[in-house]
Amino acid sequence: MSILVFSENRNGKLKKNAIEAVSYASQIAKENSAQVVAISVGKLADEELSLLAKYGANKIISVTDEKLKHEDTMAYTKLIADIFNKENGKIAIFSHSNLGKAIAPRLSVKLKAGLAAGVTDLPDSANPLVVKRKTYNGLAFLNVKVKSDKKILTLNANACDIVENPVDVNIEKLSPQIEDSMLKTKVTNVDLIIGKILLTEADIVVSGGRGLKSGDNWKPLEELADLLGAGLACSRPVSDEGWRPHDEHVGQTGKIIAPTLYIAVGISGAIQHIGGVSASKIMVAIDKDKDAAIFSYADYGIVGDAFKVLPRLIESVKKFKS
Ligand SMILES: Cc1cc2nc3c(=O)[nH]c(=O)nc-3n(C[C@H](O)[C@H](O)[C@H](O)COP(=O)(O)OP(=O)(O)OC[C@H]3O[C@@H](n4cnc5c(N)ncnc54)[C@H](O)[C@@H]3O)c2cc1C
Repeated sequence: MSILVFSENRNGKLKKNAIEAVSYASQIAKENSAQVVAISVGKLADEELSLLAKYGANKIISVTDEKLKHEDTMAYTKLIADIFNKENGKIAIFSHSNLGKAIAPRLSVKLKAGLAAGVTDLPDSANPLVVKRKTYNGLAFLNVKVKSDKKILTLNANACDIVENPVDVNIEKLSPQIEDSMLKTKVTNVDLIIGKILLTEADIVVSGGRGLKSGDNWKPLEELADLLGAGLACSRPVSDEGWRPHDEHVGQTGKIIAPTLYIAVGISGAIQHIGGVSASKIMVAIDKDKDAAIFSYADYGIVGDAFKVLPRLIESVKKFKS
């Protein structure tokens, strides 16, 4: 029996969520006496692919067909379903990313498999499989028992600690038949936004809210983000006001992020905002109102005027770095 993991990559490198998903699979494989099979689509050097073995992938199936370059979800679903059946799959694991969220439900229909989406922790029980996921915009947890024979999980970022579990590297190159009729969409143009840290993949995110008063006051936030190598985000009113571009808005109607460190400055902590950032591992809030809701979610809070706190924080980070 196998646990399949779909491993995402960009620009020839595995994404952090790929390592997380393999590590998750290898931690539950032990209890299921299963092997972990990782699927990678796209051109990656063997050295990069072998990282998956470091975290417990017993077999790595690498598919490099040019026709799959543009992430056609129907074609990916067919490919993964075929591999799942061939490898005697019992569980398929995806990241709860845009791509994972697009493929997993389609695969669930194709395989008649139960799907638990947005899993936040290692299973409470592997047999029967009981996993935890968030609901009500992150305000409550559900324990979900997946009763079907075949099962599919999509994992929130930080759903488990990344644990090394080195096994022998076993890379299989697969050249599946990709018929043109399998490809349901055609990408005609790709516009790259160059130079920005992708918020959905950033390890640290510095975020500003309406408390910063105007788009002209973003300099200290940019400086802090630069120093920390962080992505810049904002609350929705900030982008609605045109202070920052819309692709920086996080929350229920914006990007859902899960950095290791989220620093919220002048953000009150409305539930629609928290819905997009609650998977952050550590949250730091800076707000002048000690009763702001954000402090009930934050791991660390600084009550104070952002325009006084930020320069001191920047100085401290500079000192620390030197
Ligand atoms: C359907 C729907 C969807 C939504 N989706 C989103 C979403 O995706 N993302 C999102 O962010 N919002 C979303 N919202 C809006 C959300 O409800 C809040 O209105 C919004 O998050 C508030 O943004 P804010 O915290 O920046 O501003 P405010 O709520 O105005 O908070 C500003 C904070 O700054 C503090 N402050 C003021 N001056 C200073 C200072 N000098 N120093 C330090 N702190 C200071 C204040 O004490 C306050 O806590 C949505 C709303 C709806 C109805």
